Amino acid sequence: MKPEPSLRFPVVCPICAKEQLATFSIATLTRGLLSGKSIRLYAACHDKYWDATRIEKEQLREYLGALDRGGLTDEHNGAYIGSAVISGNTTSGDHDQR
Ligand SMILES: [Zn+2]
Repeated sequence: MKPEPSLRFPVVCPICAKEQLATFSIATLTRGLLSGKSIRLYAACHDKYWDATRIEKEQLREYLGALDRGGLTDEHNGAYIGSAVISGNTTSGDHDQR
């Protein structure tokens, strides 16, 4: 089976501030960004889920944009995390409700 294209994104756990690379399905991210629905982020070290803030979504958008310019990777490195994770500076109340 052909591996699903994935995006590796550096995220910072909101609990322990440990930076790590999370791997996301590009299809999942694209769907979330296009639909405007919330994107579930995940930090593996603390099994912590949260919704992407507006800022985090912007970062994801930039990463996906970079893929269009040839940065696409489909290699599968480590555990597959089904959702995105970013940024430890989770400023409360900054959720984009669009
Ligand atoms: Zn952690």
